[in-house]
Amino acid sequence: MTYTPRTHRLADLTWPEIDELRPHAPVAIVPLGATEQHGLGMAQRTDTTRAEAVADMVARRMSPQVVVTPTIPVGMSEHHMAFPGTLTLSPVTLQQVVVELVTSLHRHGWRRIFVLTGHGGNNSAIDVAVSRLRAELTDTHIAWSGVTPVVADIIKEQGASQVRGHSCEIETSQALYVDPDLVLPERLVPGSSTVDDLNPAGRLGRSHPGFHFPQGYDALSPTGNLGNPRLATTELGALLVDTVVDRICGFLTGLIGLPDRSPAPPPARIALETT
Ligand SMILES: [Zn+2]
Repeated sequence: MTYTPRTHRLADLTWPEIDELRPHAPVAIVPLGATEQHGLGMAQRTDTTRAEAVADMVARRMSPQVVVTPTIPVGMSEHHMAFPGTLTLSPVTLQQVVVELVTSLHRHGWRRIFVLTGHGGNNSAIDVAVSRLRAELTDTHIAWSGVTPVVADIIKEQGASQVRGHSCEIETSQALYVDPDLVLPERLVPGSSTVDDLNPAGRLGRSHPGFHFPQGYDALSPTGNLGNPRLATTELGALLVDTVVDRICGFLTGLIGLPDRSPAPPPARIALETT
């Protein structure tokens, strides 16, 4: 008989249930979000809810093979701090949070761990954390992705605005699909939608692909959003989110199928010829 856990959410289970579930659930997902401004018509928890919803959908689809930790609701959002209410962790703190959560999972036996962020501002901290963890936990496969970048090919076809990426038609569509309570449709307004709408520093960065020149969002858009959230639809959100779930399930199935990671052997000794 197939084993069916009461839930895949680690925080909702008892320890004896987790002990029983562990051998059936080789993968643990750690979702990361943010509490930051999302323009005039979308809630601050948008990134947290998107990451959590995708993680839950993946875990339900792959049950019982995946458990999900609580979603970390605050990320690196320094670039949104000019707007009332945004909360931020420093890069070093977020990196340490990821390292310590993944290490906790490792201590309980997980050897395949996937960090999923709903907020692109978290990427640099996750990348460094995962580099550290790969060196420290040499028997563990650790991978990570964002939500939106997984469907970059679809967004290239569907995104209408020249400039987008935060509270735009793409993100607002996802929000409408995963939790309509995130969106106040009558308050949505277009933000900066073309390169010409940006300030000189924003234009300089956006017109030179490959260069990194981060700016605060207050300098990029007076309303705090890019692109046109009025173009958002639940149908586009369903296409994007359902495809993200498909692709993450595909990746995690591959991860489960890999041999266990084992520490790299020490460098081969060069036999020295002696006379
Ligand atoms: Zn967002």
